[in-house]
Amino acid sequence: MQRAVAGERIDATEALALYTRAPLHALGRAADAVRRRRFGENAAIATYLIDRNINYTNVCVTACRFCAFYRPPKHEEGWTHSIEEILRRCGEAVDLGATQIMLQGGHHPDLGIEWYEAVFRAIKQAYPNLVLHSLGGSEVVHIARTSGLTFAEVIRRLRDAGLDSFAGAGAEILVDRQRRLIAPLKESGATWLEVMETAHRLGVQSTATFMMGTGETNAERIEHLRLIRQVQDRTGGFRAFIPWTYQPENNHLRGRTLATPVEYLRLLAVARLFLDNIAHLQVSQLTLGKEVGQLGLHFGADDLGSVMLEENVVSSAGARHQWNLAEMIHLIRTAGRIPAQRDTLYRYVRIHWTPDDDPPFDPRLRSHFSSIAVESPSVA
Ligand code: SF4
Repeated sequence: MQRAVAGERIDATEALALYTRAPLHALGRAADAVRRRRFGENAAIATYLIDRNINYTNVCVTACRFCAFYRPPKHEEGWTHSIEEILRRCGEAVDLGATQIMLQGGHHPDLGIEWYEAVFRAIKQAYPNLVLHSLGGSEVVHIARTSGLTFAEVIRRLRDAGLDSFAGAGAEILVDRQRRLIAPLKESGATWLEVMETAHRLGVQSTATFMMGTGETNAERIEHLRLIRQVQDRTGGFRAFIPWTYQPENNHLRGRTLATPVEYLRLLAVARLFLDNIAHLQVSQLTLGKEVGQLGLHFGADDLGSVMLEENVVSSAGARHQWNLAEMIHLIRTAGRIPAQRDTLYRYVRIHWTPDDDPPFDPRLRSHFSSIAVESPSVA
């Protein structure tokens, strides 16, 4: 642990030993020391984002066993938003101060590259400043298949139509033994990494995620980190790492052993120590709640995620945690850090040095403002 704190690289065997055996508080302190060293004069700041996930379709042929959101083609509960509806949601997000849109959806067999190009172009034409941090490795694989294109061709066309960066979704767990159990029809872990590497080489950066708690071993958790670090050594294209926990409702994996808050915090800390080549580490308030969110800022995380105006995928599986912008700022401040709104590139949009810097309370600025998967209090 001292070697990692001193800035030396640790290997996967050492990371596993820390993950399984290091005293919890010492692990948190070590991760926090590494975070402080990385951020230097900005180490007192923790960031948040205002964005909206627009889930454009729930129709999907991939049928992941952990997913509660999708419906198979021709299912009576299947839906796809029109471009007009997507634009309306973007406009609403812009009005509320969102800087980023995450378009995420099912693998609809009828949506080819032209549909995505038309959506991205329409959004960029209407809202040129809105950042499209959208889709992910799995969507690229699906579009390549439906449109008869290579991964590189799909990525270039999406980029040229307005995509700014890829979300890290679809990584789930990259170790194939467990990946095949939870998502047998999804591309392999190696293919997901290949798409990300191709995107990075074409100038499209991304984040990387990890869904913990579907029954993977501790060694597989560390192996997931190792696979990401290996690609990052070659490309430098992962901006952030975002671990989150599997949610057990309404899906076929119900009853599996979940990742506990302590397991999550340990993983977060080890990620900060092991992923020495990824700058940002986000704690998943969406799946673990505000308490773990605050603690995560003391276990290596520098970012508390988003005031997510809409999210329906993870929420469909049971994530019910909600917060508004005022709470987000308060959570960061009472965790002992200075809150700052960031953009997709982690540049500060607004630093809340004191409460005088906070915006007036707006009841619409809250997570799940318009999510269908979470019952929302009515807004005046
Ligand atoms: S996680 Fe994504 S790819 Fe898998 S079934 Fe759900 S919508 Fe489809």
